[in-house]
Amino acid sequence: YRTRSFSLLREPLFTALVLILIYTPVFIVDAFFVSSGSIAARLDYAIASAPYVIAAVAGELLIGGLFAQVLALSFPAPWGRRQALQPSPSERSLEVRFLFNTGAITVILLIALLAGDWVVAGAAAREMIKNRMKSTAEMAGYSVPFFLETGQNLALQISDLPAVESQSGEALNELLNAQMRAVPYFDQILLFDIEKTLIGRYPASSGVEQNLYPEEAIGLELAFGGVLSQTYSIPPLSPGGSARVSFIVAVSSSPNQLPERVIVARTNLETNPFSQPLLSSLKAVSEVGGEGILLDDNQRILYHPSPSMVMTSLAVAPSTESRFFDDTAPNGTRNLVYYQPVTGRSWSVVLTVPAQQAQQLAISIAAPLSAMILGLAVVALVSLRMGLRTVTNSLQNLASEAQRISQGQLDHSLTVHGVDEVGQLRRAFEQMRVSLQSRLEELNRLLLVSQGVASSLDMQDAIQPVMEAVLATGASAVRVVMPSLEEDAGQEQNHLYALGPSKEKYTYLDEQVYRLSQTQERLVLTNVARARGFELSAGKPQPASLIAVSLRHENRNYGVLWAAYDQTRLFAEADVSFLATLSGQAALAASNNHLFRTAEVGRQRLAAILASTPDPVLVTDQYNRLLLANPAAWQVLGAAVGTGEGKPIEKLISQASLLDLLTSTSADKVSAEVNLLNNQVYLATASPVLAEGHSVGRVCILRDVTHFKELDTMKTEFVNTVSHDLRSPLTLMRGYATMLEMVGALNEQQQGYVKKIIFGVENMARMVNNLLDLGRIEAGVGLQLETIPVPDMLERFVGALQLQASQKKIELSLQSSETSIPTIEADAALLQQAMYNLVENAIKYTPQGGRVTARLKFLPDVLSFEVEDNGIGIAPIDQPRLFEKFYRGGQREAREQKGSGLGLAIVRSIAERHGGKVWLESQLGRGSTFSLQIPLHQPKPPKEADAPRLS
Ligand code: ADP
Repeated sequence: YRTRSFSLLREPLFTALVLILIYTPVFIVDAFFVSSGSIAARLDYAIASAPYVIAAVAGELLIGGLFAQVLALSFPAPWGRRQALQPSPSERSLEVRFLFNTGAITVILLIALLAGDWVVAGAAAREMIKNRMKSTAEMAGYSVPFFLETGQNLALQISDLPAVESQSGEALNELLNAQMRAVPYFDQILLFDIEKTLIGRYPASSGVEQNLYPEEAIGLELAFGGVLSQTYSIPPLSPGGSARVSFIVAVSSSPNQLPERVIVARTNLETNPFSQPLLSSLKAVSEVGGEGILLDDNQRILYHPSPSMVMTSLAVAPSTESRFFDDTAPNGTRNLVYYQPVTGRSWSVVLTVPAQQAQQLAISIAAPLSAMILGLAVVALVSLRMGLRTVTNSLQNLASEAQRISQGQLDHSLTVHGVDEVGQLRRAFEQMRVSLQSRLEELNRLLLVSQGVASSLDMQDAIQPVMEAVLATGASAVRVVMPSLEEDAGQEQNHLYALGPSKEKYTYLDEQVYRLSQTQERLVLTNVARARGFELSAGKPQPASLIAVSLRHENRNYGVLWAAYDQTRLFAEADVSFLATLSGQAALAASNNHLFRTAEVGRQRLAAILASTPDPVLVTDQYNRLLLANPAAWQVLGAAVGTGEGKPIEKLISQASLLDLLTSTSADKVSAEVNLLNNQVYLATASPVLAEGHSVGRVCILRDVTHFKELDTMKTEFVNTVSHDLRSPLTLMRGYATMLEMVGALNEQQQGYVKKIIFGVENMARMVNNLLDLGRIEAGVGLQLETIPVPDMLERFVGALQLQASQKKIELSLQSSETSIPTIEADAALLQQAMYNLVENAIKYTPQGGRVTARLKFLPDVLSFEVEDNGIGIAPIDQPRLFEKFYRGGQREAREQKGSGLGLAIVRSIAERHGGKVWLESQLGRGSTFSLQIPLHQPKPPKEADAPRLS
């Protein structure tokens, strides 16, 4: 289990500690039942031996625990520490947890109480017994000196009798006899003379023992030596009898003389009347199961409850202090011993009481309280359990109800009783269930509504679920009024939708409700009859309550949805907002319908435009599938296109150039000339269709340019023929004009005319040459590719132009970015002409003292040639057309220069023939820069005749 206490228990060392704790009560109970004897004896045995046994077992457990702990830490996997942990029963059940926690505390408390009870009872019992022993021993102790002193005094009294000193024989015996009868203390008296011969005795009968015991013999010696009085204990007369005490007294006539006679007086301890208080004290101990023992100065037993023990010695260390101690008998039973020395004498009293006696007493003290504690504990646990049951039962019940609610079963209502916490919880759950259910129903209805709205663009289909949902709120009539919108030309009539049993009854209110809804978004009338600003015509059916919500969507008002109630109804906040949501859906449906209609009209218009346009139009999607082709396209591209919508265009169009155009991924407009099967030439222009910045296909429009092409060819042929034919007459004219001077002298005026003629003819000849060049270049003949070292070539013609520049005082310079001599693959004559034209123009259109710089750059793969001047510049209006044939700048300064307007056209033709380009940057009055770029290597000639020419 994953609970903290269990995870601690998984540590072997901790478990060992817990086991030691558990073992203690287990051992005590076990020892109690295993041992024999009375309950008290067994209990005493169990408790007395518990500390030793438990210490031993604890040692074993700790060593084992330590060993196991090391194993567990070293080899966690085989030990099983890696397994997934589960929640413990106390984690799973509230009741178990409560019982586990409270139960544990209760049990600990119970044990503590019981143990405390036992300890207190045990201590009390022991104290009681001790007190009793002590008082008994004290009493016995006081009796001993009295007994002994009495004996001594009596013996001395006898010795003081004058007759005892002097008389002997029968008379002495008589005397002793009389003495004995007077004080019945001694049961035997012997009188010895100096020779230690017995001279008198009592009783006089000869059967009485006359021998002296060894102690007495010594005492006799001492008495004759001057010791006045002595006491000795002597064995019983017969085995099993009681011990006796012998008093030895010296008989002397005067204190200064040594005694001549000695009296030995013996008395039996048990029969002596003076010893009776002592004996009864000792015997009293047996009432509590103990033994009272009297010891003499040699630790010999003078009195013992069992007579066989008399005169044996007892191993008790003599001391002057009274004391308690525990003693274990050979049979294992424990005794409580009290030792009391007799004051003034070296005798002592020893009282022993079995320890079980104390237990017995403790049991009798503790048992009722323990039974009561146990009883109370049982009652407490049972009532706890019962009390918990009621709580956990209702909680469990509640949990299963909550489970049901969480699974969506909301039909089952909770029985609510009681006002306590559980009752409150049940009530809260019930309220939750009810509101959840109604919310769910509302949601379901809304879902149906939005499904209806989403699934259909038809207004009737979309609005139907909305009206049904309103009707479900208890309305008798639901009406939707939607006047036609201004944009919907031709749809003048209003749209009306109605549902419910009284749907026709309140038709006459439509207009009024709609009017009011124009100014108020919501109209809530709980009592229609009393509503201000609302007029009801008499004699017509009247609703009790009414609610209307205008249909607005994105700042557009589509109409009003209103519901009539035959019963008066109070509209709660939730009802109104539900209705507002529903009308929002209705407005959405209206908006969708409106949008659809607008889009449809737009689409139809577009279709009409496309159908009527004579230019073929193709539209593709981003996957290059044909989306649309107009009838003109069907005619031109074949019937397959007409029926092939949705198919990949590769399968529909065979013209490679057109396919390239349509499948091009360029983001810009792309154009190409396309030759179609019927020998017609089309200029196809494809542009990407962008939606949110992404290309979603292309639109391609084809324009028939066959006619322009033919015209162009005709024009070129005409110009070529004319210029060719003009060349010989011009040469002739120039020749004859120059020869005129040689033929005869001409006057000044004639010479001037001839010069003008020659100037005009030269101009015309140059133009004709240019035209022929252009024709040659455009016809594509004579492009002879060779590898040219460009800087050399450049230097050559710049040298030629240097003269022209210096005449106008123009600073002409050449800059080259490369030190090495790169080469280019091109037609040398054409390239030189293009460069020449640019530099010549720059000199031509730069006034005196200007500057012209020609720059040569070799970029990767291309040669870049730039000519910069600070001349007259070009007006923005002229810039786009400058490269057209015969186009000349409109400025006066430009017009003043000789020119045909063909130079730049030639440059562009040459650039294009080489796959390059030419462009310009210019500012009027500041100068211009013309740039020419030619690829360093010419591609292989294109295979197809209609290769696209990208513009
Ligand atoms: P032409 O020079 O024979 O007129 P071009 O085709 O060479 O014909 O030039 C066309 C026109 O471009 C010129 O008439 C002139 O107006 C303009 N033009 C060309 N080069 C320059 C230049 N470097 N600076 C200003 N205008 C220029």
